[in-house]
Amino acid sequence: MNIILFGPPGAGKGTQSKYLVNKLNAFQISTGDILREEIKKHSDIGKIIVNDINDGKFVNDEIVNKLIEKLVSDPQKKNKLIFDGYPRSLRQAKNLDSLLKNSDQKIDLILFLNVDKDTIIKRIEKRKIIENRSDDDSSTILKRYDTYMKTTQPVLNFYSENPYFKEIDGSLEIEEITRKIDTFINV
Ligand code: AMP
Repeated sequence: MNIILFGPPGAGKGTQSKYLVNKLNAFQISTGDILREEIKKHSDIGKIIVNDINDGKFVNDEIVNKLIEKLVSDPQKKNKLIFDGYPRSLRQAKNLDSLLKNSDQKIDLILFLNVDKDTIIKRIEKRKIIENRSDDDSSTILKRYDTYMKTTQPVLNFYSENPYFKEIDGSLEIEEITRKIDTFINV
C-alpha cells in the first residue's frame, strides 16, 4: 500500500507514519526529516534551504521533488511508501502522481489528520521541549500554520474527490487515531 499522511504541522503525521511503517513493513518518506538531514550534513542543498526552514517557509518545489524521486522509484520500496509531509503543494501533488505512474504505482490511501490551530500550537510547544527543533518556536509555528493553510489547502481539494481520501479527527489521542487508521488498512 502507498499511503499519504496529510495535515497541518503537529497533526501527528510523523507518529502515525512510524506506526504504519512497522505495521506494513513499509518505508517512511518524511520530506521534513530528509531536509533536516541535508542541513545537518551541511550539503549544498542544506545551505540553500536552512533559512526557509528556520523561517517556517516551504522549501522550493523543485528541490523537494528531486529529493524524493529516487525513493519513489526504488523497486525495493515499491507499493510500500508512507508519505509524511509530502506533497504539500499542488505542484508536488502533480509531480507525485506522475512519479508513481512512471513506476507503475498509485496512491491507495490518503489520511487527512484534521486539527484546529489551538491544538497545534499547544502540541508544537510541547514538541519543542522534547525534540528541540529550531522551527518549533511560537512565532514560526504560526507562520508554518499560515503557509499550510495557503499552500496546502489546494492540495486537499485536489485529493478530496478521491475515493481513498479519509478524514480523521487529529485532535484525538494517538491510540484512538491509530485505531481509526487500522479500520482503513486491510491487513
Ligand atoms: P515537517 O517536519 O514535515 O514539519 O517539515 C519541516 C519543514 O520542512 C517545513 O516547515 C518546511 O519548511 C520544510 N518541508 C518539509 N516538507 C516539505 C515539502 N513537502 N515541501 C516544502 N517544504 C517542506
